[in-house]
Amino acid sequence: MDCCGRPLEFKKLPELLIPAWRSYKPRVAVCPVCKTYYEKKPYRKTGYKQQGNILFCTFDGDGVEWARVDHPIHNGSSPDSGDGQVEYELVPYCAMCENKPISPGQPIDAKMWVDEL
Ligand SMILES: [Zn+2]
Ligand SMILES: [Zn+2]
Repeated sequence: MDCCGRPLEFKKLPELLIPAWRSYKPRVAVCPVCKTYYEKKPYRKTGYKQQGNILFCTFDGDGVEWARVDHPIHNGSSPDSGDGQVEYELVPYCAMCENKPISPGQPIDAKMWVDEL
């Protein structure tokens, strides 16, 4: 993806901000010229451009939608069991050119659980 005639350099966010169980691990970039914020899924060539507080698909210009992905928390005494607690994640997607993200997503191992603020 380019902005202002220059290729955008997408970077990973620190793992502290993006725990391993998340479905959406965005790569982010800011245009050095116009300061527009972009993010994208690691495996996609197109992504999302921020205008105001809204993300738009860079492929077709459509406003993105947000899908809720449930992550069951495995806090039970036996492996891969839990009491039904779920952590929600909102994942952006373009309804025009992407499939809706799949829910439920990866379960969260309570032993690895760190409260995010
Ligand atoms: Zn730009
Ligand atoms: Zn799109």
